Amino acid sequence: MPVLNGLFHVHSDYSYDGKLSLEKIKSACKHYGFDFVILAEHSQSLDDKKAEEFRKKCRELSDGDVVLIPSVEYSCEGGMHIVGLGVSEIISETKVDAVIKKIRDLGGFPIMAHPTKYENFNTEGVEGLGGVELWNFSYDGLWPRKRGIEIFSEMKKKDENLLSFFGLDLHYFYRFFLAEKLLMSMKIESEKTEKTVIAALRNGEFYFENLFFCSDSKGNVIMPKMFSEVSAKVYDFSKSSFKFFLKVKKKLRRR
Ligand SMILES: [Zn+2]
Ligand SMILES: [Zn+2]
Repeated sequence: MPVLNGLFHVHSDYSYDGKLSLEKIKSACKHYGFDFVILAEHSQSLDDKKAEEFRKKCRELSDGDVVLIPSVEYSCEGGMHIVGLGVSEIISETKVDAVIKKIRDLGGFPIMAHPTKYENFNTEGVEGLGGVELWNFSYDGLWPRKRGIEIFSEMKKKDENLLSFFGLDLHYFYRFFLAEKLLMSMKIESEKTEKTVIAALRNGEFYFENLFFCSDSKGNVIMPKMFSEVSAKVYDFSKSSFKFFLKVKKKLRRR
């Protein structure tokens, strides 16, 4: 079976903060050599009609080059986000446990997004997850943070089948460039269809890698130890310098 190269956790302009159309995402994937892309649109930005249109468009655009897989990132009470892999229906429940259960009932696979974002996070009462983002590019930076690894291993103690995911949380075009340059993608062995890709992910038959680290689906991360310790600092620094860059750009544009 062929080895596919894909992206996990991507937002299109179906999300309020996504800047890329599905067409643009597809052509960027094709250009950079990604075979599939798991979209995770914000639930707040969708209603039944829009969700249906989103699903339809993903399937229309999917072809032998790139498969677009429609999924939704559900906002829950308390601010937690749960990605329903393979599910894009509107869910009226808002409690974390109820959302997780509903995703399962709809035949999807619930994955907790960016656990390092949540302050005073504790795993109490979170039942039935299929996976957790041990690393999220938007919140953790170029490589996993110690805290993400700790949260994942703590949760895995309660459920040994829990899978570790690496979410790009990609909203802008420049991230495609980074994803390609840093080889920040997931690899699976599968036929190139929505069904077989989702099945491989649910079964944990994947791994992630970039220039700095790699990780299997069981949360075994291989990277230089110092990275996890300096990661948070590097991330804060890069975030503030990026903000500074945007400010300068804005000023120059006004001239
Ligand atoms: Zn989120
Ligand atoms: Zn997201």
